[in-house]
Amino acid sequence: MQAVRSKRVAIWFEGEQDFERLPFKFFIAGATAFQRSFQFYFPDPPNELTFEDALKAQREQRPVFREHFDVYIFITAEHMKGNLFFIEIGPLVHITTNGWQQNFSPPSVFEYLFHSIMCGSIYALSDGTFQHHDDLTMGCQFEYTRVKEHDRIDIALGYICQEHEAQIATQLGTDVLTDVKRLFKFEWLGSADQAGTVAYKMKDLFNYDLRTDSGFKKRFLERVQQNIDGFWFDIAKELIKGILLIVVAFLLFKFGWK
Ligand SMILES: [Zn+2]
Repeated sequence: MQAVRSKRVAIWFEGEQDFERLPFKFFIAGATAFQRSFQFYFPDPPNELTFEDALKAQREQRPVFREHFDVYIFITAEHMKGNLFFIEIGPLVHITTNGWQQNFSPPSVFEYLFHSIMCGSIYALSDGTFQHHDDLTMGCQFEYTRVKEHDRIDIALGYICQEHEAQIATQLGTDVLTDVKRLFKFEWLGSADQAGTVAYKMKDLFNYDLRTDSGFKKRFLERVQQNIDGFWFDIAKELIKGILLIVVAFLLFKFGWK
């Protein structure tokens, strides 16, 4: 039997992010622990390398990083040229979260990022022979979604068309294909209501709820309440009530009791 080596995918963050990194790292580690085809890494320090540096190194035929990886992922919050979600050049993948939470979430920014990491990695691992569907939407993971919100359909479905399944099986093997399909379907995430799952632990241990903490679905007060503990939230509420009472009393005093 041939020894199987996982594909090594390293992830860096460029500058400030519009999401919390620790629950995201836990989320990604959950995907690694679930299968054996892909191993995701976060090299330290997280901002050591940028996409531009990596691209330069690659053009000059220098090693991209002190350690070799099969795929190098860079996550930025900056707008990307051409209004794209991600680009892939050789083993380098540049992904932006710009606009996702404001315009498209749910699915959460984590699910969006994971989808982009997986797509980018498969494009990178196939040495440029992997073609996406150009101008149609059918729910396959490998689509150039000209209408950006159509990516919500792809991520929610986690489906891969027969043509692309065959291509992954030929280029990366049937074992990898099995894992790719399970990863895209988020089987490894589980439900936030079921103890022991990655989604449950994210909520329980990292205070991150995929359904409410990404995007603008949540009302302002719910967000505030999540960020300060109950006691201070109650005090803040009482303070606001108190201030309103004073303002009303003042207005009554000034205009009402003449
Ligand atoms: Zn397809």
